[in-house]
Amino acid sequence: MSAQEMRMGILEKFQQTICEHEAEVAVLFTGSKRPLYIILSLACGLLLSLAIKNFLFNHYLLASLLGLFTLLVLIDVIALHKGKTIPIHTNILVALLIICLGLTIHQVDISAILWAFPIAIAILYIVPFKTAMIFFVLMLVLVGVETFTQVDSSTVLRACASLTLTMLISSLIAQHMHKLQRSLKEESVRDPMTNALNRRQLSSHLSNCLARKQRHDIDSVILLLDIDHFKQINDTYGHATGDRVLKRITQTIFSQIRETDLLFRVGGEEFILLMHDVDLQSARKKAEKLRLSISQQTIVEHQSVTVSIGISMALPHIKEEDWIRQADNALYDAKDRGRNRVSYHEMSA
Ligand code: GH3
Ligand code: MG
Ligand code: MG
Repeated sequence: MSAQEMRMGILEKFQQTICEHEAEVAVLFTGSKRPLYIILSLACGLLLSLAIKNFLFNHYLLASLLGLFTLLVLIDVIALHKGKTIPIHTNILVALLIICLGLTIHQVDISAILWAFPIAIAILYIVPFKTAMIFFVLMLVLVGVETFTQVDSSTVLRACASLTLTMLISSLIAQHMHKLQRSLKEESVRDPMTNALNRRQLSSHLSNCLARKQRHDIDSVILLLDIDHFKQINDTYGHATGDRVLKRITQTIFSQIRETDLLFRVGGEEFILLMHDVDLQSARKKAEKLRLSISQQTIVEHQSVTVSIGISMALPHIKEEDWIRQADNALYDAKDRGRNRVSYHEMSA
């Protein structure tokens, strides 16, 4: 493969990565804000009609509270619709909602307790889990006290028990969904064979490093690693042996890097190690150490397995593509000088 072809390969992959990353962010954003938007929009319409009804029935305090609540919810709904951060904290909304519920049971009639059920489920989607539990206990106490004065104790007990059960089942479902979502997210960001981050994750991390370089002059370095003559290993010993080599090499890298360093699989047998807050000297030492420890292992009998490494450092105002290109140039230089080498190239232009 020519130097030009090799460079184009990595750059094309990198540009494709940026596009995929942008699409992913849009999907995640819609996914996380949509339930809140739907719940608040529904609440807005419902509470406005309740406010009007209570006003007509001369329950002025309740009508004003519901009116105020509708207004606050509307402010948040508009902000969500515009894709902005909500100005009224959801804790305030939930607290106000529970007060409205208590007042309705007190002033209107006991059947208002039925509203406690959808509220219990909705708060799981509106506030974090622990906060939702605190609000639920408060609501339970309020409902218990309010109904106790109006109906017999066994009805109160049944109401509280069924409300607790509703909350328990809903929270179990919510937690299960949350777990599932987390494991899906983890799977979607990592390459299953090597456990390295996949290349879709690269762009956001690179841009964070470049922003930190510009704002705080914190250095970051990328090491572009490529296994030498990997095709030959595959052709001679088979694909399964090739896979074993990939796994062993990534294990070696993982065992020698800091928690803050990030390893990405950017191609079949190409990896990027992104090191934060590190100077060039230390990065070079690390690259040399990695190269040496990989070359000293016997991964395949009677066959040396080595890597070539290109190093490049984040410069202020450099573009992500150029940062990668610099590492790519250095890697090509290491290959050109005989492989199993570490190389660093200064940025030209
Ligand atoms: P160089 O020293 O110049 O890097 O040569 P090379 O043979 O390592 O490079 P080349 O790009 O020619 O070959 C890369 C090979 O990696 C070709 C492809 O079949 C193999 N490969 C890509 N992904 C995988 C994988 O997941 N498993 C295995 N076993 N092989 C893979
Ligand atoms: Mg390669
Ligand atoms: Mg290779």
